[in-house]
Amino acid sequence: PRLANQIAAGEVVERPASVVKELVENSLDSGANRIDLEVEDGGVKLIRVRDNGSGIDKEDLPLALSRHATSKIRALPDLEAVASLGFRGEALASISSVSRLSLNSAVAEAESGWSARSEGRDMSAVLEPIAHPQGTTVEVRDLFFNTPARRKFLRTEKTEFSHLEEVVKRQALGRFDVGFSLCHNGRAIHSLKPATNQLEQERRLASVCGPAFMENALFIDRTAANLRLWGWVALPSFSRSQADLQHFFVNSRYIRDRLVAHAVRQAYQDVLYHGRHPAFVLYLEVDPANVDVNVHPTKHEVRFRDGRTVHDFIFRTLHQALADVRP
Ligand code: ADP
Ligand code: MG
Repeated sequence: PRLANQIAAGEVVERPASVVKELVENSLDSGANRIDLEVEDGGVKLIRVRDNGSGIDKEDLPLALSRHATSKIRALPDLEAVASLGFRGEALASISSVSRLSLNSAVAEAESGWSARSEGRDMSAVLEPIAHPQGTTVEVRDLFFNTPARRKFLRTEKTEFSHLEEVVKRQALGRFDVGFSLCHNGRAIHSLKPATNQLEQERRLASVCGPAFMENALFIDRTAANLRLWGWVALPSFSRSQADLQHFFVNSRYIRDRLVAHAVRQAYQDVLYHGRHPAFVLYLEVDPANVDVNVHPTKHEVRFRDGRTVHDFIFRTLHQALADVRP
């Protein structure tokens, strides 16, 4: 089974940033409202994610590291199917197969916390009692130490860190209600308190997207029928040559979707922008029954039940907001 883990891991654990994405998603799933990340050497040497969520029972710790044990997908026919589905329910198993992983956790009212460790293919998860506040700390050391071919594909420390930071920024923009911190090689890079009102949200935005974005951004918020679109769009006074400030969330989940991208681009081009990249942080709220977020294994694509309506709503909302402030 460890070999199978490594094959599946090769599909999705591409670099430190993919590890961080999975670990933080797990923390969010556990109900945490505070997530602290420490990384070294761009995440290759160490990724430590600590949360104050539900924690994991002693009995469940080894299971969390074992493949399929927690999978939401039952009866996977063969390895090929696993690879093409990505690794839902097996992120920790996949990551642990290509690193030295320790999982430290405590649930509420437990007498002590517990630690489980595994190292590459040697899957003997050792259990030990430890002191740990309620929540979970996952430590991933020496990523790809046992898969040299994969390790070779890693870029410089700086590049790996910037991918990793991008993931954390997205997650922080997706969940204003959660506090985040990120340290790299002992240096504090981000420290974001939970944001409960617009002022605090804008403070987080300035910190994540830069003060220049915030100073030139227009806040919008419109609801129609079952749809709400809100967030910040940059005005022409904020010019940027790269398409690196485009964040779109559907029901708090970061997405990159052709239909959405098209609607946004059309609205911008129509009103203001010619050949420039729009910058925005936007949130679409849709009745979950009308959107499928599990179309693609990386989960960045969505399928709307009524794509046309969604497209028109996004286009019209942005078009009108931008037309109102046209210089
Ligand atoms: P999935 O998240 O798809 O279930 P993972 O391999 O990512 O699969 O995680 C396995 C299981 O371990 C989760 O279902 C959850 O029960 C537990 N788990 C992992 N990380 C945490 C965490 N930070 N807090 C609480 N439980 C966790
Ligand atoms: Mg997970």
